[in-house]
Amino acid sequence: MKMMYQPPALVQKLFPEFIWHSTTKKILVTFDDGPNPSSTGKILETLKEENIQALFFCVGNNLSRYPQLAKLIVAENHLLGNHTYNHTIVTKLGKDAFAQEIISTNHEVEAVAGSLPKYFRPPRGRFSFHLARALKDYTMKNVMWSLLPYDYKNDLKVVKFAVKNYLTKNAIVVLHDSDKSAPIICDAIKYLADEARSNNFQFGTPEECLS
Ligand SMILES: [Zn+2]
Repeated sequence: MKMMYQPPALVQKLFPEFIWHSTTKKILVTFDDGPNPSSTGKILETLKEENIQALFFCVGNNLSRYPQLAKLIVAENHLLGNHTYNHTIVTKLGKDAFAQEIISTNHEVEAVAGSLPKYFRPPRGRFSFHLARALKDYTMKNVMWSLLPYDYKNDLKVVKFAVKNYLTKNAIVVLHDSDKSAPIICDAIKYLADEARSNNFQFGTPEECLS
């Protein structure tokens, strides 16, 4: 199983404006796909216990269905990002359809957070030049990741293996705020926090890690 998301060097050169690692020597924790009734609340509790501030790449449709959960995320001083409205693979979209995914999700974020999101993450990490250009129109930055511990496979052993072997001091870690990872997500966060501590790594806020 490929544990670390390592795009070819050429891809990183083609998209230099995309963010692949934390820009400081601190770990950024991100959660994709929420908010979600079976996972968001317990994720927030665990983040509070571990004193971690995270970036939640939310799906617009979920923000619209669960605004109270989104408000809880904001109230706990985490940041909301845009993960499309319908969890769409954006490379398949035309310019107008892509714009619709961005704008409608930004609107949902603004409704709960009071300001527009600055960061975007494409579902499944799929992107294109067309996406890169369009994001500039919205002055948003594309945030990729350096470590994907496959929490959605719902097997804590897999998460531990990935974190133990691939966590770096400037990692951007992607976890999931979804039904699939809900059974193990709290233990996954705690393991990540323990590993970071035992390596003397620090967690950063989204602002610190993406400046
Ligand atoms: Zn996703």
